[in-house]
Order: sequence, then C-alpha cells, then structure tokens
Amino acid sequence: MHVVVLGAGLVGVSSAWHLAAAGHQVTVVDRQAGPALETSYANGGQISTSHAEPWANPQVLSNILRWLGREDSPLLWRLRADPAQWAWGLRFLRECPPARARHNTIAILRLALYSRALLKDLRSVLGLEYDQAQRGILHFYTDQAEFEHAITQADLMREYGCDRVVKSARECLAIEPALADAKVPIVGGTFTADDESGDAHLFARQLAERAATLGVVFRYGCQVAALERRADRIAGVRLAGGASLAGDAYVVALGSYSPLLLRPLGLRLPVYPAKGYSATLAVGDAVAAPKVSLTDDGHKIVFSRLGGRLRVAGTAEFAGYDTALNDTRCRAIVRRTFDIFPGISGCRDIEYWAGLRPATPGNVPLVGATRIGNLFVNTGHGTLGWTMACGTGKLLADLVGRRAPEVDPSPYQAQGSLMA
Ligand SMILES: Cc1cc2nc3c(=O)[nH]c(=O)nc-3n(C[C@H](O)[C@H](O)[C@H](O)COP(=O)(O)OP(=O)(O)OC[C@H]3O[C@@H](n4cnc5c(N)ncnc54)[C@H](O)[C@@H]3O)c2cc1C
Repeated sequence: MHVVVLGAGLVGVSSAWHLAAAGHQVTVVDRQAGPALETSYANGGQISTSHAEPWANPQVLSNILRWLGREDSPLLWRLRADPAQWAWGLRFLRECPPARARHNTIAILRLALYSRALLKDLRSVLGLEYDQAQRGILHFYTDQAEFEHAITQADLMREYGCDRVVKSARECLAIEPALADAKVPIVGGTFTADDESGDAHLFARQLAERAATLGVVFRYGCQVAALERRADRIAGVRLAGGASLAGDAYVVALGSYSPLLLRPLGLRLPVYPAKGYSATLAVGDAVAAPKVSLTDDGHKIVFSRLGGRLRVAGTAEFAGYDTALNDTRCRAIVRRTFDIFPGISGCRDIEYWAGLRPATPGNVPLVGATRIGNLFVNTGHGTLGWTMACGTGKLLADLVGRRAPEVDPSPYQAQGSLMA
C-alpha cells in the first residue's frame, strides 16, 4: 500500500518509519526544508512517562485563577474572539474532574511506557545518537502542597507500571547535586530512573535518514493546501501551487495545524495550539548545571542537559497560532533557571525558541481512522509528543496495516468520535 504521511515532525517521521518497516511504500510531505523544524525542534527533551498527569486536572483551576492576568504565569489564557479556542476551553474544563484526570493519566501513561520501550529498542538497533542521557528524571518541588499532590500521582503511576519513587529533599540533592545551591528550598521530589532525555530534533533527523534507506520519500518545501475527497475516500493531496499527490491511504500528522486541514471535510479535531518556550544555554561542562533531567512542576518547566547545552522549556500560552517570542515569558524561565542554578547565572549565550504543542483537552493523543475510509490521524500529543512519538507511530502503522496493535487503541480513538 502507498501511504502518504502529511507532516515530518516527530510524529510524522515515526509514523513513516513504522509504516515502511511494515512493508508499505511511504511518501512524507512537509512545508519545511527538513524534518522536525516546527514544534519538534527545540522542546524540553524529556522522555517522561512520569509526566503523564495532564494539565486538565482538579488543581489547575485554582492555579489558573491565581495566575490570571500575569504575563509571566506558567499557564496563560489570552482570550480571543476565536470559537475554536472557546470550544476547546470548555472541553478542557470537562476533563478537569478527578475521574477524568485519572482516566486520561492512565491512557497517557500506557502509551508513554510503550513508546519509551520502543525508543530504547530503536536506538540500540539503529545506533542512533542524539545527545541522549539515561540518568532518569527527577521532579522536584519547592511548594509543600505541590509535593503532596505529586506523592498521590506517583502512587497512581506506580500502580500502572511507572516506577516513580518519592524522594526526600536530601535524596533529591544526592540525585542531582547541582540543586544544592538553589535559592529556593527544595521540599522533596519524585524520581523515575527509566525516564530519559535527548534532542528530539537530532533524533527525528536521524530516524528520517534511516527511513529514507527503507525507501521512504521525503518531499520537503511542499505546503499542503487541501485533501481532495471523492465519495467516502480521499483521492489525493493538493499542494500549494496546484500539484497533486495520490496514495492509497493518508495520515495527517500536521501537529497543531491538523484541524485546519480537516475542517473543510467536516472533521472537527479537538486540537488547539498551546504555545511553549524554550531557552538553550551553552553551559559547556559547567558542574553548576544539572546533568539529570529535571521537572519543576510548580513552574511547569523542565531542564535537560543535551551535551554541552542546557535546554530549559515549558509554560503554556493559549494564544492561537502566534509563534512570536514574548520577552517577559522568555525572561521568566531564565530567571527561574538562575534561581535554581545560581552557579550558571553568568551564562549569556542563550537561544530562545517558541513552538505550538498540538494539545487535546485531556492531553490524550488521537491515533487511528477517521470516518473517511482511507484517512487516518496521528496528532494531539500536546506536552508529550517526544515521549509518545515512537509508540503512536507504531500504533498508527498497525492500524493502517490492519494488524493487531500491541496497545489497546480505544482510549486514543474514543476521542475520535469527536471528529464526527
Ligand atoms: C516548549 C515545549 C517543550 C516541550 N517539551 C517536551 C518534552 O520535554 N517531552 C515531550 O515528550 N514533549 C515535549 N513537547 C511536546 C512535543 O514537542 C510535541 O508534542 C511534538 O513536537 C509534536 O510533534 P508533531 O510531529 O505532532 O508536530 P510538529 O513537530 O509541529 O510537526 C508537524 C509538521 O507538519 C508540518 N506542517 C504543518 N502544516 C503543514 C502544511 N499545511 N503543509 C505541509 N506541512 C505542514 C510542519 O512543518 C511540521 O514539520 C514540548 C513542546 C514545547 C512547545
């Protein structure tokens, strides 16, 4: 079967790899000049099964009210005259009650664990190198109430196979000695030894190269303009400039832009862009910079050491498709970094970046068939696209090829009913 994959971010490249490995002929189309040049470019770098709790949870509402109107807040809603934003916001609220948050956490965790295992396999079989570090992920807390909430989350995650272990403040400093100089006292943390980190862009580039050796054709610099529908099937992809491309099946992996392509077909994906920022600091071999990948849950930022660089990333801003850098928000993540690691506060070599997470209201991705016969989606990975990309790529390939998937696909398709 000839499968056309739209989008060469982490999710599109992983889908293409797994489809080609299953024997399909694959063409990937992307508007950029290479793979992973949009949201997958400079993310937080974490393969973080321990981060499975979605933003939509019972705690978030009080936090949003507390942060309302603060330009530097970890979560910022910029209310717009945009029906898609309001509809998504209402769905987000419906995902916040404890039972929904628990259900979504478990669905994300299952996929994340599956994906992490596949990533480890792929890395060793293909010999991929992408500044990866297998030192675990430590979530640290500077607020007692946040720490207590994390303890209940860690209990739930251990029940479902993620070995997220609660640690005292002293144990946190032993795991990551660079935390010892923090200006804000650490009250405790949780540690997940099997979680890891690495540069998502480097990974995607290498996986794309390996996919090309399996025969995958990458067509870069091609803007997808529309899907052409004939009766209950997609007949082709129309590119900007008028050319068309035809296949037997089509996979939409356009990240935050997926709903825009599908809306004219009457498919309404509950995906909205959640803008996040990163700052990449050239820290060389500074011992004052952390080596273990860290999550500062209270501030919604993560830290990953990528060779001689420290990537700090996070926060969310619901502001439509604007990717402009906001000075206040850039400064806020760097200020927090220097409060936690004062020993690197002299670092001036900093690269800022912003990307649009393709977020579903409950952060559960959408993987599988749509009600148009040969049209599939693989999108909505939100905060955890790097963590879940290998798993959702394999799941998608199994569903396209009508093979029994290795994970129960229903939680990722149940939301598909919203596509009608
Ligand atoms: C600040 C930040 C930090 C993050 N940290 C982490 C982390 O630590 N761990 C983690 O697991 N996840 C993290 N994420 C999330 C992760 O980066 C995303 O979920 C993931 O990159 C989404 O990948 P994607 O392939 O779906 O989308 P994208 O990478 O955006 O890929 C979509 C592709 O579609 C192409 N495209 C779009 N429209 C068109 C069109 N019309 N025609 C042609 N091509 C088109 C784009 O060029 C792009 O290449 C973070 C995200 C952000 C923003």
